Amino acid sequence: MAQTFKSLPAVPDHAALEREILAWWDEQGVFELVREQNRAGERWSFIDGPITANNPMGVHHAWGRTLKDVFQRYKALRGFDQRYQNGFDCQGLWVEVEVEKSLGLNSKREIEEYGIAEFAARCKERVAEFAEVITEQDRRLGRWMDWDNDYYTFSDTNIEYIWRFLKTVHERGWLYRGHRSTQWCPRCGTSLSQHEQAGEENYKELEHPSLYVRFPLKEREGESLVVWTTTPWTLPANVAAAVQPDAEYGLRAGLWRLAVSGEQYDHVARGEELVGLHYTGPFDDLPAAVKEHRVIPWDDVSLTEGTGIVHIAPGAGTEDFELGRIHDLPVIVPIDESGRMLPGFGLLEGLSTDEVEDVVIEDLRERELLVEAGRITHRYPICWRCKTPLLFRVVDDWFISCDEIRQPLLDANATVEWTPAFYSKRMDDWLRNMGDWNISRKRYFGLPLPLYPCECGELNVIGSRAELEERATAGLDQLQELHRPWIDEVTISCSACGKDVRRIPEVGDAWLDAGIVPFSTLGWRSPEWVPGGYATGASAGLSGADLPDHAYWEHWFPAEWISESREQIRLWFYSMSFMAVTLVGRSPYERVLAYERVRDETGREMHKSTGNAIEANEAIERMGADVMRWMYSEQVPSQNLNFGYGPAHEIKRRLLTLWNSVKFFVDYANVSEPGKSGELEPLDRWLLSRAEQLIAEATDAYERFWTPDVISSFEGFVDDLSNWYIRRSRRRFWDGDPAALEALRTALLRSLVVIAPVMPFLAEHLWRVLRPEGEPESIFLTRWPEAGERDERLLAEVGETRRVVDLGRQARASSQLPLRQPLRRLVVQGAELAKLHENEIREELRVKEVEFGDVEATELRVKPNLPVLGPKLGKELGAVRSALEAGDFEESNGGFRVAGRVLSGDEVLVERVGKEGWTVAHADGITVALDTALDPELEVEKRVLDLIHELNAKRREAGLELTDRIVVTLPESASDLLAHEDWIKDEVLAVEIRADGGSTEPEIAKA
Ligand SMILES: [Zn+2]
Ligand SMILES: [Zn+2]
Repeated sequence: MAQTFKSLPAVPDHAALEREILAWWDEQGVFELVREQNRAGERWSFIDGPITANNPMGVHHAWGRTLKDVFQRYKALRGFDQRYQNGFDCQGLWVEVEVEKSLGLNSKREIEEYGIAEFAARCKERVAEFAEVITEQDRRLGRWMDWDNDYYTFSDTNIEYIWRFLKTVHERGWLYRGHRSTQWCPRCGTSLSQHEQAGEENYKELEHPSLYVRFPLKEREGESLVVWTTTPWTLPANVAAAVQPDAEYGLRAGLWRLAVSGEQYDHVARGEELVGLHYTGPFDDLPAAVKEHRVIPWDDVSLTEGTGIVHIAPGAGTEDFELGRIHDLPVIVPIDESGRMLPGFGLLEGLSTDEVEDVVIEDLRERELLVEAGRITHRYPICWRCKTPLLFRVVDDWFISCDEIRQPLLDANATVEWTPAFYSKRMDDWLRNMGDWNISRKRYFGLPLPLYPCECGELNVIGSRAELEERATAGLDQLQELHRPWIDEVTISCSACGKDVRRIPEVGDAWLDAGIVPFSTLGWRSPEWVPGGYATGASAGLSGADLPDHAYWEHWFPAEWISESREQIRLWFYSMSFMAVTLVGRSPYERVLAYERVRDETGREMHKSTGNAIEANEAIERMGADVMRWMYSEQVPSQNLNFGYGPAHEIKRRLLTLWNSVKFFVDYANVSEPGKSGELEPLDRWLLSRAEQLIAEATDAYERFWTPDVISSFEGFVDDLSNWYIRRSRRRFWDGDPAALEALRTALLRSLVVIAPVMPFLAEHLWRVLRPEGEPESIFLTRWPEAGERDERLLAEVGETRRVVDLGRQARASSQLPLRQPLRRLVVQGAELAKLHENEIREELRVKEVEFGDVEATELRVKPNLPVLGPKLGKELGAVRSALEAGDFEESNGGFRVAGRVLSGDEVLVERVGKEGWTVAHADGITVALDTALDPELEVEKRVLDLIHELNAKRREAGLELTDRIVVTLPESASDLLAHEDWIKDEVLAVEIRADGGSTEPEIAKA
């Protein structure tokens, strides 16, 4: 070779190499060159799901961000024109709670005292800070995005697009104010929606009181109902008691509960007989309590826990509230928004729901209403954001009705291709079961809902900033951005009666912010292209994103592909689809790749508190970004990923095969003599075919968005390249055979492109080492290779040969014969294609002869498969078993004839073992048998091989160059090995071998 290649160290320092490549990419503007090169290409539309700019990126985020980058790089190599807009989620409860923590605020009252404008400023600062941190991390991970033009969901433009959506929803008649019982976080002081709370992580095992309380019946002197509750704070709000009308209830010692069969009762009655009775409530003396209580029927009363009689407080539970509507019961709300008891509850007033417990229990005990008190541990919902246990409150919230859109959403989902495919059904399940969308949050820094209900009954919904300005009656002059508190100062005139109306104080669900992105960032219905027109309001100065025009939206909508974690089914995938189906009647994405969760390497959840969490920055520096990306890409996305330094170490070890192969090439190419020529041999043609096969397999895997198959194809290829091609061609490399060198280089270069999307740094580095003159300086400026012609027959032959050799090694290993011990004979059965490669098999397995034919060296051992045969044969089993044991059977069509019966293959357990003097291995229809008998010739050859091994080790210890020649001195005792002098000389590059040494060790000297 005329070229000199940069030599490689023994092992790569991934992190250092990656920083070097990053700097080089920046210097050369490689990403810009890639975009420029693809500008005229076909579009491939990807939309980035926004990451909350609230904390540094975690290793769980890095999974998705890796997959996004892998496919964007793949598509770029294929020449597709792409958008590279990164997104940040910027408002709502996430940001608010973190800012509260950092300011030491712990209630809404404290936020209001701090000042909403100041609070908004702190929220914006936090977003700006972490957007920068995340950008830095993402770049280090290798992600290529258009970093100065990110979209920030708190931009005024984004807000306006959501306003437009809400106005449309209102025009369809789907928007309504609901008076409902909802899950309520007492710390955040807001209700939470079904989709926010649905995740498994939003439940926790908590301990609560378990109380059995007596409700004395008014019509039945001396008789009481017994109810069970775990929420003492709801008892003062009791209104009714529910029984299951068809169930049997028993009275004993004056107490009614569900009858248990076999037990004795004074009286037994069906639930319906109790319905309509009145009872004295547990806290009738309190001014706020209802004074009349009755028994109502309810089919859903649990008959497996409690007493079968359920205490109903319509102001403190969702099902209670619904029952209250059916039975026209009064609603008593016992707690305020911070979860403290309201006035009217006597001693309890001002206490939290926890503090109420002891007071209630003591009071009930004194009044002899407490039948039994204990503790219970149960699964209980906690706030998805701040982890506070949730309560139920009846409040007014704003909802979007799902009735009319449910079916269109299901239809839209039917057009989406999900990877893995079964997530499609998860989405369907969610869509079928979702309740109306609760869009309002009683908070501060979020989407200002543009709802202006007038006392005349008109609900005014503003659809844009222009409309707001047109209808404003006051407050416009101070409106610096569309956030609270400024937006709250703007009043508008009612379209029905002309009176001044105020906005409701609520802000919006954060999923509205992210869901509108396929419209707001792509310029849907925007009459013109506005430079910087997306980076408005709170995002001004943070981004330079334009507001494109409608033609741009037409070009880029819908996204061909998106990728986020599986939980986004009920979050982003859902909200985005909801908004797109509402606005344009179709899904905003065509294909989704979703993935599960990151666990620690032992499979446990990662938590800062348990000390097993790994920070993304630390992981990138300690493992290397490529190694992380490899781990994410290798993972089957429908299973949790066990992430850690152990698995990373293992990957680094595996990556060494590639590294060593490139290093091997470089070392030999650099010492080869220029000007020599050589012919391609079958093995070269095989390697080149193998590279084309890799390209075909990997292309197919990328097109299916299935990175695990990319990795396994690549690893299989590298294994073939290193452990077959290089191994089988060593001598040619020593001789500097240019055909071998060129074949190896070509195969390496082709494979590097295939793996470049997964590990861009290492691939780029090795590309730059091997790059032929005239090829682009960056691997990402090359084109995705089309799989060329390949010799399928040759691939199959060598594939089978490798399997035979692997089996031969297994057989050797199980007989514990040393690897360097030559053997006489190998018999191969079931590998006809390997016949032409007998030489290779002989050399690899160190056998003198290879015979293709029936392996008779095995003994077939057949045993009954008891779980199958036992029931079938019954008493006859014994006879069959002894016939099998005695070897008294014949093979017949994959089954066995024994004791007058024919048994099928799955009715027996078959084992093939070597007969005395043979060792056997068997897999996938191939059987190999090694003759283990030794003779003097074989024993001497073993000693020669040991010697060659030892001498080469000494060469390495002495630090000799590959081309250095040596003189060998053997101890006298080894003089018989001189019979193989030429063989030894060849293998260790010796010019002379003497056998007159006095020591017991062979010695070498540079010639
Ligand atoms: Zn909360
Ligand atoms: Zn009005």
